[in-house]
Amino acid sequence: MAEYDYDFFVIGAGSGGVRASRLAASFGARVAVAEERFMGGTCVNVGCIPKKLLVYASAFREEVAEAQEGYGWTVGNLDFDWPRLIENKNKEIARLNGVYQKLLDGSGVESIEGRATVKGPHEVAIGSRTVSAAHILVATGSQAFRPPEIEGIEHAITSDEAFYLEKFPRRVIVVGGGYIAVEFAGIFHGMGADVCQLYRGPMFLRGFDDDLREHLAGEMRGRGIDLRFDSVPTRIEEVAGGVRATLSDGSRVEGDALLCATGRLPNSGGLGLEEVGVATKPGGAIVVDEYSKTSVPSIHAIGDVTDRINLTPVALHEGICLANTLFNDRPMAPCHETVPAAVFSQPPLGTVGLTETEAREKYGEVDIYRSTFRALKQTLTSSETRCLMKLVVDRASDRVVGLHMAGHEAGEIVQGFAVAVRAGLSKAQFDQTIPIHPTLAEEFVTLREPVGDS
Ligand code: NDP
Repeated sequence: MAEYDYDFFVIGAGSGGVRASRLAASFGARVAVAEERFMGGTCVNVGCIPKKLLVYASAFREEVAEAQEGYGWTVGNLDFDWPRLIENKNKEIARLNGVYQKLLDGSGVESIEGRATVKGPHEVAIGSRTVSAAHILVATGSQAFRPPEIEGIEHAITSDEAFYLEKFPRRVIVVGGGYIAVEFAGIFHGMGADVCQLYRGPMFLRGFDDDLREHLAGEMRGRGIDLRFDSVPTRIEEVAGGVRATLSDGSRVEGDALLCATGRLPNSGGLGLEEVGVATKPGGAIVVDEYSKTSVPSIHAIGDVTDRINLTPVALHEGICLANTLFNDRPMAPCHETVPAAVFSQPPLGTVGLTETEAREKYGEVDIYRSTFRALKQTLTSSETRCLMKLVVDRASDRVVGLHMAGHEAGEIVQGFAVAVRAGLSKAQFDQTIPIHPTLAEEFVTLREPVGDS
């Protein structure tokens, strides 16, 4: 491949791009990665990592209240300092940016600062410099989408700005009913803000198991979040001290900030892709085959810009598969089935496999095992919060095809069980497993009676 300046030129140093670059370099490829904004992409800078730090911060108020009420602690006045939290968070992100840079440098990948555009099947321009590469990877991620039909949408912030607000918003309006909307509703509420969340449909978190969606709605309302379904703002205007949203039913709600969390769009524009013949879908997602190859054979795409499953670990997996396919003589197609996920809401959700509805469609006869209960930790408090654990079992094969949970550390618990679900283990094998007592997770191996089927 010496006829080209590089074997592999990667556009975007986010999770997927960095992983693919480093692995390709470890296989002996000559690799460069161009990044115009920040090392580590959305996940590290304005996504998973800072979000989880804010989730931790927001959980302490409830924990301290429970410690005080039920566990014998006396705690003085609680005081929350948002600027201090943001400063600490920013320091950690800067540290991680450095770690990413070191990882690239250490693996022999050349990093180039600046915006890269594709000029041909094997050509990329960065500023006035043009280089050639045997393979080009587009791993440019996605950006927040604001619905243009909402008048005054420019007064809304997105999650990007939410991570850098100078002042803590005491009243927050959240628009949307996906991951980001429920996570930020929980974050701001946990920190003491009044939160009103608006979702356009009858039940949020479309695509998740219905029991989980309803359970979380009840829990959020129980905690004091003003959660409104079938409700969207039609107009947003600035008023003294914040914003006012006029809703579809004509009512109004005011907040210090309005967070728009209505999905994300692939960053595929302005990269020269159309000019070289890379096909995209309406909305901008790059069309790829099972090996992440675009309609131009030397150009590949992974991560959010392909809009397959927009999760960091999926982008990493796609990057690993691509590097193996191109530079390790080992073609690997990424697998997008049985991908576990967590929503870091309060309480958090964890899920892997099929929802009950999907399983009924696919298998016909399924058995549902479900338990809703008060966790041991809550028994010394007046907290009404409940956990939900649910197994979806294909009756014919006895395989557990879906596992869903709402409750403390759902992400940690479901990560473990995801191995079992992915391995195709049966309900009988779950039952043979000795529980760890007392835990929440033991419920998944002690559910004995199905709750019925259709
Ligand atoms: P999602 O796609 O999850 O949710 C978008 C929400 O906005 C949906 O409720 C959607 O409603 C609603 N919506 C879309 N368009 C409009 C509109 N014009 N007016 C009103 N509402 C609208 O996107 P997010 O922004 O929450 O997150 C982006 C992606 O990032 C997620 O899909 C996920 O893959 C990833 N992510 C993962 C996290 C995790 O793993 N914990 C955390 C955060 C993000 P409807 O359902 O009716 O279409």
